[in-house]
Amino acid sequence: MPLGKPLRFWRSLRFRLALSYVVFFSILLVSLGVVFREVLKNTLDAQATGVLNEEWGAVKGYLRIDKNGPEWFYDSADPDDNYFVERLRRVYLLADIEGHPLQWSTSYPSIGFESPAEIKAIVASGKPNFRIRTGDRGEPFLIRSGLVWDERHRYRYFLAIGQSIAQSSRVLHDFTWQYFSIVPVVIVLSGLLGWFLAGRALSPVNSVAEAAQRITHSSLNMKIPLRGAGDELDRLIEAFNRMIARLSFSFEQIRQFSTDVSHELRTPLTVVRGQLEVALFTAKTTEQYRDAMVNALEDVERLSNIVRALLLLSQSETGQLVLQKTEIDMADLLRDRIEEFQIPAEAQGVTLSAELPASLPIMADRVQIERLVSNLLSNAIKYTPAGGSVIATLSSEGQEARLSVADTGVGISPDHLPHIFDRFYRVPSSDPEKGLGLGLSFVAWIVKAHGGTIDVVSELNRGTRFVVTLPVGEVAPASPEPREVPSYQ
Ligand code: ADP
Repeated sequence: MPLGKPLRFWRSLRFRLALSYVVFFSILLVSLGVVFREVLKNTLDAQATGVLNEEWGAVKGYLRIDKNGPEWFYDSADPDDNYFVERLRRVYLLADIEGHPLQWSTSYPSIGFESPAEIKAIVASGKPNFRIRTGDRGEPFLIRSGLVWDERHRYRYFLAIGQSIAQSSRVLHDFTWQYFSIVPVVIVLSGLLGWFLAGRALSPVNSVAEAAQRITHSSLNMKIPLRGAGDELDRLIEAFNRMIARLSFSFEQIRQFSTDVSHELRTPLTVVRGQLEVALFTAKTTEQYRDAMVNALEDVERLSNIVRALLLLSQSETGQLVLQKTEIDMADLLRDRIEEFQIPAEAQGVTLSAELPASLPIMADRVQIERLVSNLLSNAIKYTPAGGSVIATLSSEGQEARLSVADTGVGISPDHLPHIFDRFYRVPSSDPEKGLGLGLSFVAWIVKAHGGTIDVVSELNRGTRFVVTLPVGEVAPASPEPREVPSYQ
């Protein structure tokens, strides 16, 4: 199955990998070639220089210098001597130190005499001089030149001997040509090899991408199969599968939430509609109309509460809800809430009590803290069967206020405990009429926004305890006269 947008050829990883192969091999082969050529050249040069140095020593043995000038001295009847001297004199030039040529081999003029200026410079330097000169047929010669003199250093002459280095030049040239004509072939082969290897290495990536492509919102339970190689790609697949699982969980929550919301909204809406219809068709007296409207209003109130909770949650999550911190007395606030919740607690047959200090001022958003306390108290009462009890305790610990709400209710199993603060999470066995699963996620947001912490311990059928700590913040010093501590039973 083709993937969304086709990859541009030169953008593909396969092309880029193969290209890096080609670049790497090109640089490597060219550098190696240059280095080899240089080594070969130096070896050939050293060889030629060594031979010339040996010949220079031999020449000095055959050349006699006295006041009559330089003279070759050997036994012309001896074939060995003859052959040797002839070899030495194949390429040579003898000149006086002013640069006037005296003797030379027949081949020397084609190479070209050194100019008097050159000769004078070499004589003045006093050192042997090597240079490469080209003959008239393009043949290269290595020439060694320098001074020769008699035993007493009275008469000095300029001598140059040379030998053809055509052979070594050809070797060097052949090497260079052959090597650098093979290089492009090797580079093309390395490109093909790179293309093939990159294709093999990347083919699992393509199949993973295709598998990922097949996963849509309706098939989020699908998984990309692991290849079992235990390599980086398998790790990527695992991470991807985990991400899909999280997405699937969120999708499921949202779907569940939509169902819950529609259910929650539909019931009171149907009731309101029924009440109004009945009133319209059957009510005769003003009293009957009034009763129907009061009932309808109660259900409308319930509807607005649900809508408000949803709105608040979305505002808190998008950061639109800004805390309005003022100094509030937590003890007072709790006293009021406890008093308010006595009625539903009694209706449920639950004992609601509190242990509070006289006063505990903290810097906090009153509306949100009231909401937090109400949520914890209403949950505790809601999930505690008749005959049970709920105790709220407030204490000051250093720079923190510590609120605990403990009940002897149904408890939460360890499987569900880690999720109760998640949005829309309800323990599955909970009575669906009891809530939307938003209360605790809102509580957790309020605690976090105040820089506090929330913990929960619970045991199934034994009870649950929520502990909230909130930083006290910058509050005015406590009043010197403590107030009486009331307690509610
Ligand atoms: P709900 O609106 O359903 O109460 P909450 O977010 O307030 O949603 O709570 C999430 C879930 O945590 C509830 O469905 C309930 O099962 C569980 N829960 C919360 N408080 C208590 C408690 N005091 N005792 C037992 N279960 C609780």
